[in-house]
Amino acid sequence: MAAQCSACGACCDPVWYAYSPADLRQLAERTDSADARFAVAHWHPTGEQSDAGHAYRCDFFDAVTRLCTGHDERPPICRGYPWYDDPPGTRLVVLPEPCSFRADL
Ligand code: SF4
Ligand code: SF4
Repeated sequence: MAAQCSACGACCDPVWYAYSPADLRQLAERTDSADARFAVAHWHPTGEQSDAGHAYRCDFFDAVTRLCTGHDERPPICRGYPWYDDPPGTRLVVLPEPCSFRADL
């Protein structure tokens, strides 16, 4: 059976994304990417970088409950995470250590 989200909040704390802040701004300006527009408006770079990309703090993440407070406003990248209706593991996504979806792999 496919894994369920345990609502640990790790994928939003921080958000790891391949694009840099400058890349995101360009994408938001030059394309109709809803993800890029949302990211420019609501994700703030922490300055951390790793193999997973760049780290961002999201305006909608509640650090106390560890839940998303913007469920209805979430961009596509958040709505479909982590498998985006594809078979598990098809896409290259960052799965934080505590993510319950690791069980799908
Ligand atoms: S909008 Fe919600 S799900 Fe998406 S990064 Fe922010 S807190 Fe996480
Ligand atoms: S890291 Fe995985 S289990 Fe935790 S909130 Fe995100 S999707 Fe759910």
